[in-house]
Amino acid sequence: MANTHATNEAWLTGRCLCGAVQLQVSHERPAIGACHCSICRKWSGGPFLSMECHETPVIRGEEHVGVYDSSDWAQRGFCKQCGTHLFYRLKEGGFYALSAGLFKESGNWPFTLEVFVDEQPGNYAFSNETKRMTGAEVFEQWTPKQDE
Ligand SMILES: [Zn+2]
Ligand SMILES: [Zn+2]
Repeated sequence: MANTHATNEAWLTGRCLCGAVQLQVSHERPAIGACHCSICRKWSGGPFLSMECHETPVIRGEEHVGVYDSSDWAQRGFCKQCGTHLFYRLKEGGFYALSAGLFKESGNWPFTLEVFVDEQPGNYAFSNETKRMTGAEVFEQWTPKQDE
């Protein structure tokens, strides 16, 4: 692990409010997605803005990470010291959605995707041009394909 580094891969580091937890992930093209589902809004106070990644992030301070089972298939992680929301992850398959706010560079990332738009309340709307998916479309995408 020590001296290996792949070219074209940028390591991004996210931190919680108190700094007890650091998340590192390599991502060539980070982008932001929003989830409007009722669970994310209860968890975040509004739509959950995150960066999707398909590899497990390197977590420093893992002993400070609390994990909550928010559904049969997914979990949400938070810092037990300061309460910062860290990630949403699927229990299987290695999918993570890392909270965009952890990364100071996230203000420069394109905002490209909105999911669970069928659960979006009518009192707010983003003006960004995004791909918009309903909950049913998201679940369909997660269903393993025949040839995989
Ligand atoms: Zn913290
Ligand atoms: Zn959600």
